[in-house]
Amino acid sequence: QDRFTVLIVGGGAAGITVAAQLKRQRPNLSVAIVEPSTTHAYQPGWTLVGAGVMSLAETLRQEGGLIPDGVTWLRDRVVSFQPDDKTCTLESGRIVEYRRLVVAPGLQLDWNKVEGLAETIGRNGVTSNYSRESCAYTWECIEQLDGGVAIFTQPPMPIKCAGAPQKIVYLASDYWRKEGRLHKTHVEFALAGDVLFGVPYFVPSLQKMVDYYGVDVRYKENLIRVDGAKKEATFQRVGTEETVTRRFDMLHVTPPQSAPDFIKSSPLANAGGWVDVDPATLRHVRYEDIFSVGDAAGTSNAKTAAAARVQAPVVVANLLASLDGRPQTATYDGYGACPLTVAYGKVVLAEFLYGGKPAPSFPYDQRSPSRFAWFLKTQGFPRLYWNLMLRGYDVKVPHKAIETA
Ligand code: FAD
Repeated sequence: QDRFTVLIVGGGAAGITVAAQLKRQRPNLSVAIVEPSTTHAYQPGWTLVGAGVMSLAETLRQEGGLIPDGVTWLRDRVVSFQPDDKTCTLESGRIVEYRRLVVAPGLQLDWNKVEGLAETIGRNGVTSNYSRESCAYTWECIEQLDGGVAIFTQPPMPIKCAGAPQKIVYLASDYWRKEGRLHKTHVEFALAGDVLFGVPYFVPSLQKMVDYYGVDVRYKENLIRVDGAKKEATFQRVGTEETVTRRFDMLHVTPPQSAPDFIKSSPLANAGGWVDVDPATLRHVRYEDIFSVGDAAGTSNAKTAAAARVQAPVVVANLLASLDGRPQTATYDGYGACPLTVAYGKVVLAEFLYGGKPAPSFPYDQRSPSRFAWFLKTQGFPRLYWNLMLRGYDVKVPHKAIETA
C-alpha cells in the first residue's frame, strides 16, 4: 500500500495543472498522479487539425515530460474509490491511500451509443474531431469533398466544448466557399438540442454565419445509427419514436458523452453520474477530503480547458486550506470559454459564467468575429496551455460579467 498527501486521478488538462500549482506553492508536498496514457493531448487543437490549420503532432506531447518535478506518476488507472477508507484501487490491484483526493479523469466518449459508428469511424467519409485517431481524417474528408451532402452532428448536452460541433461546420463551409464548391454542397447541422448555442447572447452572431454559409440546421435530431458502407445516417426526432435516414457523402460526428463509468458507479457520483461537488468551492458535498476539477466535475459550467484553468487555483487554494485547517474561501464563478471559429481567420470568442452570463476578457464586442481572437485560438491559447497553465502558473486574465437585456 502506498500513501500520498494528495492523490490526483487523471493527468489531463486539469490534473497536471493542479499538480503543478500544488508543487509551486508547496514544493515538499507529497503528490501522485494516476494516469494510464503516455501521450497528453491538447484537445482544443483538434478543431484546427480537422480544418488543416494545425498538425496532429503539434497537439501531442509525452505525458512524462509534463508530470511536474517531484510528483510521482503512477502509470495505471483508478477502477474504484473507497472514500470512507481514503483509498483508491488501481487496475493493477494496487491500493493507494491519500489525505486529499483530486478527481480529474475528464469525461467519456460513448461511441457505442451510436449503432455502427465505431466500425466506420475514420473510413467511408465518417469522421470526428473528438478523437485523436480521426481528427486528421476530418481534414482529408473536407479537402476531398467536391460537392454533395455533408452532415455534422451534435448529441445531447452536456458535452465538452459545446461549440466544437459547429466550429467545424463553419470552417468546412468556409473552405468549400473559397474553393468554389459550397454552392454544390448541401451542408447540414443536425443537433439533439433546440438552440444553436447555450448562451443566448452569442446566438445572433452564430445564426448570421449559419445564414451566410446556407447551413441547413435541423434541431431535435439525434444521431442513433450510421451505415458507413451505404453512407446513411439515421436520426431520432427527440421526444418521439420517429426516425429519419439520410444519405451523406461526408459525416462529422460528435459522439454522445457522459461521466466515466468508474465515476458513475462510485459513491462520489451525483444523480447524473458526475462528481458531486459544491459549484463554488469544488469540494465534494459529502466527502470533505475530495475535490474535483475539469470535465468530470458535476458543475454546470461549459466543460472546457478554459474552465479547468480557472477551477485549478480554486481547488488548490481550498485543498491547501483544508490541509492547514483553514476555512474554504476560494470560489469558482463558472467561467468557461469557447472560441467559435466562424471562418478561417475569424473567431467569436464566447466567454461566460454560471447561468450563461457573458463575461468578456477583452475591451471589444466579443460577439463580432475577430482576427485577434483567431490569433489567440491558433497561437496564444496553445502557448498559454503548454508553457504556463500546465507548468502551474496561474494566469489571471480578468473577465468581467456584463448585463444583457
Ligand atoms: P482531459 O484533458 O480529457 O484529461 C483526462 C485524463 O484522465 C486523461 O489523460 C485520461 O487518460 C485520464 N483518465 C481517464 N480515466 C482515468 C482513470 N480511470 N484513472 C486515471 N486517469 C484516467 N476547451 C477549451 O477550453 N477551448 C476549446 O476551444 C476546446 N475545444 C475542444 C475541441 C475538441 C474537439 C475537444 C475534444 C475538446 C475541446 N475542449 C476545448 C475541451 C477540453 O479539451 C477539455 O475540457 C479539457 O481537456 C478537460 O480537461 P480534463 O483534465 O478534465 O480532461
